[in-house]
Amino acid sequence: MRYAIISDIHSNLEALQAVLKDARDQGARRIYCLGDIVGYGANPNECIEELEKYKVQCVAGNHDWAVAGKLNYEHFTDEGRAAIDWTKTALKISHLEYLKNLNLSMQNDDMNMVHANLHYPDQFIYLKDSTQAQDTFYLMDKKVCFIGHTHVPQTLVFQDGMITISKLTEITLLRENKYIVNVGSVGQPRDGNPFASYCLYDPDLERIQIKRIAYDIPLTQKSIYESGLPTVLAKRLEVGE
Ligand code: ZN
Repeated sequence: MRYAIISDIHSNLEALQAVLKDARDQGARRIYCLGDIVGYGANPNECIEELEKYKVQCVAGNHDWAVAGKLNYEHFTDEGRAAIDWTKTALKISHLEYLKNLNLSMQNDDMNMVHANLHYPDQFIYLKDSTQAQDTFYLMDKKVCFIGHTHVPQTLVFQDGMITISKLTEITLLRENKYIVNVGSVGQPRDGNPFASYCLYDPDLERIQIKRIAYDIPLTQKSIYESGLPTVLAKRLEVGE
């Protein structure tokens, strides 16, 4: 069984479609999404419909909860707040319900999945370094936990009581280790690489691969400019920040 794990789509339809196509081409049999389906981009309805079409199982991100009225978003950036307000009015009622009903975490036989971290999943605190990773490693009951939220792909490795960070895009899993894999962002990468990011996981081969996928950035930018969303949300896509 090969899985594709995607996250932080942020209403970017072109990036989502490019990633889903690649995942299928790579033989992914099941696709999971780690939240932040909406916010920032101009196609929230279309993105949710695309996920439903491909039977993608999702957990909630902070933007999904903010739009659904389940999270105070006063502390979001100006453009983040504007995007939440815009998305609330643009979303179909049924899609608002869809976001409201998302759980904060999920798992299958091979992995844990959550938007930010396992220890306080409803507080959406970034998990970036080894100190922040300790509690999530402690709570994991699978070998691998997949996360998103920071929009920066990386893997934290728990080996012999030590936690190290790997930026490698291909990792072979060792039996005795545990892994927290940040899959990066489909719709708004922030690591200086504008290509959409997602992860392939093959438990039989014990292999994880972070993939970067080109998509039609000018088309996505055009839809943001035409929507009335803050223009900075379009500009940042071409630099990946
Ligand atoms: Zn996000």
